Amino acid sequence: MNIWQRELIVFTLLFTVISIIGLFTKLFVPLLLALIALLFIQHLRQIHRFEKWLRTGGNSTYPKTSGVWEEIYYHVYRIKKNNKRRKKKLSKMVDQFRQSTEALPDAAVVLNESDEIEWANKAARAVLGLRSGDKGQRIPNLIRFPEFISYLKSKNYDEPVILPSPQNNQITLAVRIINYGAGLRLLLAQDVTQLKQMERMRKDFVANVSHELRTPLTVLKGYIETLQDFDEGSSPLLTNSLCNMQGQTERMQHLVDDLLLLAHLETKGKKHEIVDVPHLLNKICHENRVDRVKLILDSPANLLGDENELRSAFTNLLGNALKYSPENSPVQIRWYQTEKGVFLDVIDEGEGIAQADISRVTERFYRVETKRDKKISGTGLGLAIVKHVLMRHDAQLVIRSDLGKGSCFQCAFPLQRLRE
Ligand code: ADP
Repeated sequence: MNIWQRELIVFTLLFTVISIIGLFTKLFVPLLLALIALLFIQHLRQIHRFEKWLRTGGNSTYPKTSGVWEEIYYHVYRIKKNNKRRKKKLSKMVDQFRQSTEALPDAAVVLNESDEIEWANKAARAVLGLRSGDKGQRIPNLIRFPEFISYLKSKNYDEPVILPSPQNNQITLAVRIINYGAGLRLLLAQDVTQLKQMERMRKDFVANVSHELRTPLTVLKGYIETLQDFDEGSSPLLTNSLCNMQGQTERMQHLVDDLLLLAHLETKGKKHEIVDVPHLLNKICHENRVDRVKLILDSPANLLGDENELRSAFTNLLGNALKYSPENSPVQIRWYQTEKGVFLDVIDEGEGIAQADISRVTERFYRVETKRDKKISGTGLGLAIVKHVLMRHDAQLVIRSDLGKGSCFQCAFPLQRLRE
């Protein structure tokens, strides 16, 4: 028998007793009212005890009672006990998580939507100079590097921002923000000093070697040219060898020039001048003196950037379009503007690039292996230079190509770079 059935039976019994007594004494109504008042007072007392028990935490064993109230006490007690167990488990998990993040070598800081610090680990205190008392402080007030503040504001956290440590400027940090939860962000700062040092060493090494190779190569080329002047063609072997030597030194010179340019792009500061792009394109086309190049200038737009760098990039793209297409096929260069940006399209009807190679052609030294009638010389560095130049102008290189039909290399500049 369940508890409600028992309660109902008790009430029915009481009601029957009252009805019988009321029948004999003619006091049915007062007796019924008295019964209802009694039950009401009893439940009121129980509610009071229950509220008192809850108010004091409801943790201790519940008061002795009976009937439906015992059932209510039992259920609430059980729910509370389960909650307590769950809370204990959760706080143990949180503790374990905190301990592991405390032990992380990378700095980790939890930020809320107002950029205030919610929590920071030990490494954050060491490398970012945060203190335990900084909880609730806005992070831009503590890490004041302009690059960091604009990174935080940008809301675009795809790439990390590189900063010196506020504690020690010999330490370089890669700071990255990750969005999670409702408006929460995790800031991670990794010590990349060694990595940056190695990268600098690599760049310096390439730049130094290329620079040092320049002079011997010029001397060598000079001697080869002098020998060629003296050669009267009496020995085909000698003539051939000199011609080969000249070709190879020229190739090496191109390679060294491209490597130096890349090193320059990686290390030197950016220049901001107003570049008259239509004029520059006219000059490049004129220098190439090829009839099959059609220049379409649909916009008079100028760009904010570095003229020499842009010249290299555009010359490389035009050079490739000419190199990788038949000698009589047309090449189109179009300079135009839309509401999305300013664009330079270099379109050819040449051999095209397979889809699988498109993503790789901008890698250094990557050259597509294709069976061609004649060998096309190149360093494999041209598109890497183009990509770097465009990156330095906040622009993108978009490559569309159909194997056997032709390619379109598009330089997409943002409108912010536009200067009338
Ligand atoms: P390089 O031309 O010196 O080999 P690049 O970096 O300029 O080096 O180009 C890399 C590779 O991309 C080239 O070897 C070529 O296979 C491919 N490529 C570049 N431009 C074109 C083009 N317009 N049409 C077809 N293939 C191209």
